[in-house]
Amino acid sequence: MIRTTCAYCGVGCGIKAEVEGRSVKIAGDPEHPANHGRLCSKGTHLGETVGLEGRLLYPEINGRRATWSKAIERVAKTFADTVTRHGPDSVAFYVSGQLLTEDYYVANKLMKGFIGSANIDTNSRLCMSSAVAGHTRAFGEDVVPASYEDLEQADLIVLVGSNTAWCHPVVYQRIMAARETRGTRLVVIDPRRTETCEEADLHLALRPGSDVALMAGLLAHCREAGLLDERFLADHVATPDGFWNAAGEGTDLWSTAAACDLSPADLRAFYELFAANPRTVTMFSQGINQSIRGTDQVNAIINVHLATGRIGNPGAAPFSITGQPNAMGGREVGGLASTLAAHMDFAPENVATVKRFWAAPNMATKPGLKAVDLFRQVREGRVKALWIMATNPAVSLPDAGMVREALATCPFVVVSDCIADTDTTRFAHVKLPAAGWGEKDGTVTNSERRISRQRALFPMAGEARPDWWIVKEVGQAMGWTEAFAYERAADIYREHARLSTYRNQGTRLFDIGYHAAISNQAYDALEPFAWGARPFADGRFSTPDGKARLVPVKQMVLDKPLAKWPMTLNTGRYRDQWHTMTRTGLSPKLSQHRREPLVEIHPTDAADLGIAADDLVRVATPQGESVFRASLSEGQRRGEVFTPIHWTDRQSTGGRSGLLPRPLVDPISGQPGFKSTPVRLEKLAGEWRGFLIARDLPDVVPALYTTRVRVPQGWLVELAGEGDPATLAKAVLPKGERVEIIDRARGALRTAVLRDGQLAAALFITRDGRTPAREWLVAQLSATETASSTELLAGRSAAPQVDRGPIVCVCFDVGLKTILSAITAQSLMSVEAVGQALSAGTNCGSCRPAIQRLIVQNKEAAHA
Ligand code: SF4
Repeated sequence: MIRTTCAYCGVGCGIKAEVEGRSVKIAGDPEHPANHGRLCSKGTHLGETVGLEGRLLYPEINGRRATWSKAIERVAKTFADTVTRHGPDSVAFYVSGQLLTEDYYVANKLMKGFIGSANIDTNSRLCMSSAVAGHTRAFGEDVVPASYEDLEQADLIVLVGSNTAWCHPVVYQRIMAARETRGTRLVVIDPRRTETCEEADLHLALRPGSDVALMAGLLAHCREAGLLDERFLADHVATPDGFWNAAGEGTDLWSTAAACDLSPADLRAFYELFAANPRTVTMFSQGINQSIRGTDQVNAIINVHLATGRIGNPGAAPFSITGQPNAMGGREVGGLASTLAAHMDFAPENVATVKRFWAAPNMATKPGLKAVDLFRQVREGRVKALWIMATNPAVSLPDAGMVREALATCPFVVVSDCIADTDTTRFAHVKLPAAGWGEKDGTVTNSERRISRQRALFPMAGEARPDWWIVKEVGQAMGWTEAFAYERAADIYREHARLSTYRNQGTRLFDIGYHAAISNQAYDALEPFAWGARPFADGRFSTPDGKARLVPVKQMVLDKPLAKWPMTLNTGRYRDQWHTMTRTGLSPKLSQHRREPLVEIHPTDAADLGIAADDLVRVATPQGESVFRASLSEGQRRGEVFTPIHWTDRQSTGGRSGLLPRPLVDPISGQPGFKSTPVRLEKLAGEWRGFLIARDLPDVVPALYTTRVRVPQGWLVELAGEGDPATLAKAVLPKGERVEIIDRARGALRTAVLRDGQLAAALFITRDGRTPAREWLVAQLSATETASSTELLAGRSAAPQVDRGPIVCVCFDVGLKTILSAITAQSLMSVEAVGQALSAGTNCGSCRPAIQRLIVQNKEAAHA
């Protein structure tokens, strides 16, 4: 059994892995303080994603296999030549919160200390750089002053811009458990009614972008109601002149309610809950950070906590929760273009400190290009050599079309990744095979500053190597042999620990100097630990005078709906998928929760646009357009729509949310504003729709819309298109014994192809939109006995079958219809009762909010 950590989100759950060959049994680690044995659906099904399918196994130069030495030489020489000819700022690294801290450290050192530029930015820029900037403005250092235990000690938890139930499920389970045992009150502030709202005492569906107005209103109320902690303010907080005058403008209850589009009664209820519960944790995430006013939004939250003294005490803190497994490790290392190293900025004395520590010949002296600007400069030809590590910017950056143009014109693109074919690797001149999860060995830091070991479970696939090894080889090939003479991850960790304490003298809370001489054995056995026991408990902050700062913030001037782009697009995650699905997309279990990229739209808006559920809808912005399947949702505010971020060219012709947002960023943090893009929707009139179930994916699917997911033993491809379906059938069906029904008059086609007596593929096309449920046909790919031709063409068994509906609980394959009928028939009134009856929700627990929603909906329907 090997103890390691999950590959996905910033909760940083501990895992116990039992390995046999290349397979692994995954269980939550009861001793890990982040999760105490819990795992969500993604963590639980990690074992389905560790195969070698799709892996990049060897270095490649211009599409041809190469040796490591040739590949390293090519990268080192091209970067060195480019720097010689065009200067250090003509090259850049774009890295990832998926890297381990040791990988990050070596990349940051090479770029900032030896190449001499700070052009190293990370995809964490897209998810939490506003929190970094907000912390630094308020505390003098990027410190998250909270832990998960605070959530269990709080009397009130306010979740702002966070679909915690889907994006940080284990934290959500901890909140639910605390609520159960101690009655913690819960307020959710989010324009959408997500599953996170199911258990909330109050949901404030505010107007997008009005978070500063809401927090300013709350602060003004606290002042009026005598809730400010005057002593804490006097002793530990610096308040700029005029702060309170400016903070008071337009912040009365009625004005705030109008600005936020909330009812004054709901707003008053929130204020009252806040007043009654000094132990408050305000946890925020992408809804706050991913805004063109993200940094001000962060500081508006922190201002309230500082002014009321709700910081540095148990159960009282602002809490930014990160998206990626090691975004925090990257922050500690300084792997953002706007930070230097080890929580230091580019102040001359810091540059001198780091230069001396690294014995660096070419120190960067100023911040580098932040992600969106970086790719702009690549497109404009100013950055001429780019190395992308463990991320997929061709999908994930805003205005992804511009990013693709940039990559296509860049003279030299290197991609190190564990996946061979991503939307980004297609632009690479050199591909370098990196170790994947389960092969890497190093440390990660989770959202509560807890450093844990991620340990290797398997030998590295093919010729894959750890990212730190690849970077240090390039550094050495560029001539810095001594500075990059690392033999193992522990060497790098020790150096990182030494830098954190070097000339620190208490000026930076991030100090893990106690590990500066950690032995290899102790590093291997390292138990999870959080640095900075309870930050700011002594009222001392990391500023020159030791005081925190109240920061004046500006309310966002909200866009008026534009005639051509009258609706507002919000984007985000699905419960069971991760980023661009390169890993979670391999899991048939995880693919059950959402099989297609949906655009969620309020039913009244949909009716106005003539859109019905399941229609194909084109979502267009000035930047680009993409096609989604319509899902009608009362949880959407009128005029606002939501799409998922996960789908790429590899899985779908549509669902490409990355093509849509504007490349506008927060002026301080550089974080893009993904959450409010003006869009236009129009119904797409395909002549037919249908699906293909196949053991092997066809090379080409000539259809207007195709999107594919993994199923056991094959693939399920959803389709829509125009023209003769027979042309499609010819292109996508494999050779074999065919049975089929073709009704040309109705434009319907049903074909099954058998090979060696087993189903190889089935294609169902219809013009009336009525197709059979997919599950029975999908199961035939794994069936030991072949169904009859009649059954295959009907798409169901001759024996009576229960229609389970879409799968809600992926651990036990329990469908929505099964749950609803059990709730009704057995009068089940709680998630626990459903669990007892059907097992649903009793393993990872990710589906518990969905079950709760079904119980509530059923109750409401009964009373209607
Ligand atoms: S909450 Fe889920 S995805 Fe996040 S670390 Fe834990 S198991 Fe992994």
